[in-house]
Amino acid sequence: MSPVKLSARVATLQPSATLAMVARVKELKAEGVEVLDLTAGEPDFGPPSCAEAAAKDAINAGLGRYTAAAGLPELREAAAGLAKETTGLNWSADQLLVTTGAKLGICQALMALVENGDEVLFPVPCWTSYPEMVQLAGGVPVPVQCGEDHLPSVEDLAAATSERSKVLLINTPCNPTGAVYPKALLEEIGKWALKNGIAIISDEIYAAMTFGGAKHVSPIAVLPELREQSIWVGGMSKAFAMTGWRMGFLGGPSSIITKLAGLQSQLASSPPAISQYASIAALRDGTEDCLKMHSAFEKRCDLVSKALATMPGVDCPQPQGAFYAFPGFGYFLGKTDSETGKQIQSGDDLAELLLEADRIAVIGGSAFGKPDAIRLSFATSESVLQTALERLAARLNKLS
Ligand code: PMP
Ligand code: GLU
Repeated sequence: MSPVKLSARVATLQPSATLAMVARVKELKAEGVEVLDLTAGEPDFGPPSCAEAAAKDAINAGLGRYTAAAGLPELREAAAGLAKETTGLNWSADQLLVTTGAKLGICQALMALVENGDEVLFPVPCWTSYPEMVQLAGGVPVPVQCGEDHLPSVEDLAAATSERSKVLLINTPCNPTGAVYPKALLEEIGKWALKNGIAIISDEIYAAMTFGGAKHVSPIAVLPELREQSIWVGGMSKAFAMTGWRMGFLGGPSSIITKLAGLQSQLASSPPAISQYASIAALRDGTEDCLKMHSAFEKRCDLVSKALATMPGVDCPQPQGAFYAFPGFGYFLGKTDSETGKQIQSGDDLAELLLEADRIAVIGGSAFGKPDAIRLSFATSESVLQTALERLAARLNKLS
């Protein structure tokens, strides 16, 4: 036991449940165990080839040095283009900040907006990192439960509002549910935010990933006045399959972005240089590769939702975006597996059983605020998905 007393900030911090499960699967694979891996929200594709070529060129040209703290001007320009594509709004380079991944970007945005004790609302189910990020920034997490369609109602947001409410953290398309927020709901949410002076952090990292005709609408673009109190979040990890390059973007009023750049100059000096050169190339010339990935995801989404719909007792609204399905297993709770004798009390128990008995790795729903669910990532091949879904159906048949 170390004699050093840790800060309360880290002493109570929970490590990322998604990354813990990803690490566990890696360990099993290293031991030679074959696992059908439906854990990580990480595309199984490589980045656009132009990005890899640009990175190699940048290394050869000796460009792996600190850049401007806010990111390379050309990348801020290119990110303004991505922000326009995603939100439909016009952006200038000084309204964009390049961050070391969107995850850290969201933490920085929270640090900039939240005073100790300020409340940050977010619809639940939500990405596992949100509550921890809010606490790290000194804020109080206020989860707002979604309905069966995995969307929040304005009435529920209003009921959760207090004098200390400061920020709404919203994510569309949503990790873990795949929900895509409709425009009419976003307008109602926007009016509530304006009326209550609540800032919006709009996590649109999955904006390019919508399926089955669903359309992404940016929460900050539905009412013109919202822009002044909103921060847009985007990045290279998902649509560009550049997870390990750690490139994210924040967009907002230039006064806020300038402050965030100052904060970043103290936190990170600058975002990684080589990744920035790669991202410029990806944003300029990577569209074709991204479209190919998108059509693969579209097919997988269809495969997964159709298979889940044939499983009696499984409750899964059709995912419309991101690359996850989030079925509920309420019907199965309390049932016992005839093969192993294990009783299922939660989605986490089911995830454990699937890993042990069927070698399928998924993430239990408690990490996302819905304990009776599991998250299936379809960022993996159709054949893996097919086999995993067959095994899942067979396992459910053994529960009684
Ligand atoms: N937001 C959501 C909802 C996510 O699922 C992720 C996944 N990594 C991120 C933000 C952060 O992405 P990154 O840090 O890789 O840019
Ligand atoms: N966002 C991805 C996921 O939910 C990657 C892991 C993480 O950062 O949580 O699986």
